[in-house]
Amino acid sequence: ENPKPKYRRVLLKLSGEAFAGGKEYGIDPAFLEYISMEIKSVWELGVQTAIVIGGGNIFRGVEGESMGIERAVGDYMGMLATVINALALQSALEKVANVPTRVLSALEIRQVAEPYIRRRAIRHLEKGRVVIFAAGTGNPFFSTDTAGALRALEIEAELYIKATKVDGIYTDDPYKNPEAQFIEEITYLEVINRGIRVMDHTAMTLCKDNKLPIMVINIYKPNNLKRAVLGEKVGSLIK
Ligand code: UDP
Repeated sequence: ENPKPKYRRVLLKLSGEAFAGGKEYGIDPAFLEYISMEIKSVWELGVQTAIVIGGGNIFRGVEGESMGIERAVGDYMGMLATVINALALQSALEKVANVPTRVLSALEIRQVAEPYIRRRAIRHLEKGRVVIFAAGTGNPFFSTDTAGALRALEIEAELYIKATKVDGIYTDDPYKNPEAQFIEEITYLEVINRGIRVMDHTAMTLCKDNKLPIMVINIYKPNNLKRAVLGEKVGSLIK
């Protein structure tokens, strides 16, 4: 019999960088396969799972500025990049992992994704579909980390899981400072005041003001995602 998960509904934020795997640009099929099976392991526990996808592996709004592209235009390009990642993940989840999914886009692209409608997202989750939120918040000058906080609050997720390449939060950069110490639990205010760069201020503030707990985990460690929803001590908890 399956162990009982601690959370009923979670939101997972995957950065575009993760999609690129070891590469600088594009989508790594090995990561797609890996992450699909990780997501499946959570879905199989009956945890309602929503995902917000980044786009940094393809385009970031700020990058456009050096090309003479206005920030707002660049940001829309970045949002479209997240749609590409969302479709790749959807395909992998359905083909590799056999998990039913829906992509809901904050920008209307009706031929490839449903428009984002809050109540519909919740309905899909209740029906056991993994919901993939694409196109961030639909607005320039925001990040997909903020979209993650926003959607998590809208769907009343109990936990915001921020997938990273490190084990969690440290007192300093563990790659640069061998003295850096792991932090198991920390408050929102401390993260903000100490300038710890987990996500941007807009996203952090949204979580803080609405008391949405954030768990920072290493997504590259197999089973971490499952362990997180089971309530095991993986990563760092911000609350
Ligand atoms: N973006 C935006 N509004 C949003 C979410 C994203 O304008 O609500 C744009 C922004 O230009 C951003 C890009 O989309 O740089 C890709 O998202 P992000 O950088 O958050 O992706 P990640 O770092 O997670 O890969």
